[in-house]
Amino acid sequence: MSNLDTRPEETVCRTAADDHAVALLLEPRDVPLGGLRGIHVDRLLPQRGLPTVGAWCFLDIFGPNNTQMSVLPHPHTGLQTVTWPLAGEIHHRDSVGSDVLVRPGQLNLMTGGRGVAHSEISAGGGELLHGLQLWVALPAERDDMAPAFEQHVDLPVFARGGVRATVFVGELAGERSPATVYTPLVGADLTVDAGSRATIPLRPDFEHAIVAVDRTLVVSGVEVPPARLLYLGTGREDIMLSAGRQPVRAVLLGGEPFADELVMWWNFVGRSHDEIAAAREDWETPGQTRFGVVHGHGGARIPAPELPRIRLTPRRHGHRT
Ligand code: MN
Repeated sequence: MSNLDTRPEETVCRTAADDHAVALLLEPRDVPLGGLRGIHVDRLLPQRGLPTVGAWCFLDIFGPNNTQMSVLPHPHTGLQTVTWPLAGEIHHRDSVGSDVLVRPGQLNLMTGGRGVAHSEISAGGGELLHGLQLWVALPAERDDMAPAFEQHVDLPVFARGGVRATVFVGELAGERSPATVYTPLVGADLTVDAGSRATIPLRPDFEHAIVAVDRTLVVSGVEVPPARLLYLGTGREDIMLSAGRQPVRAVLLGGEPFADELVMWWNFVGRSHDEIAAAREDWETPGQTRFGVVHGHGGARIPAPELPRIRLTPRRHGHRT
């Protein structure tokens, strides 16, 4: 997905939660995406004071909408894109030659490294489309790596007391995703059965966050309404998940706190203004070779917006304990 929101506004709401652990309930921003006709996108990361959760640096929930997604070729650097559909099928093409459909339960993982381009077009004609688009920041020693693409259709699942977790990235409770990532991380899709309650073990050296997708989930005593992100900080050995009269779908994200301060602008992740400006310049250069070509679009592409007149600065983490 292409990020068309270059001047985001962010809201942070504090909750009175556990008195010993961080629990911040964060509101989404409703972002108009010009490239997606009429699609509703809730942006949950980055937030003011919360640029990353582990290496997770971007989280959009798109839909549910009966709509057509049509995101033309656009570039990425310094990150991996994680596409996790909940409903509908997306046709992914990229400049490393991938041309695949991704369906619910399957993971598309594209590594931008020094530069990649891709397009995402919904495969159905206005069918229900719902899903998550996430970015993982690459560590400094990998942010210039060659681009790559993986699709995983067989992902590990564990079940405990009415909770089923599909581990799409990293490791949770001994289940490890085959997806290639470069920092200690977890991303898991959770289904909590109606009326059930279960404790999920966590790594206390990770920071975690959880987003309720369709209904309110209770996380260690904190109510998390749909499309809200609960940031849980580090130091937790486990979380207790419970659902009311209906099952709840949610996504757990976590990872080792990401050490580097990141400069993020448009579809680029870097360490400095100059790096981002160079990536933009390269994308706008006719006949560029850095990002390659996404075949099948007759040369159509999303042009980069103008850089702001100020120098881009890193986003700062304000909630670590
Ligand atoms: Mn994209």
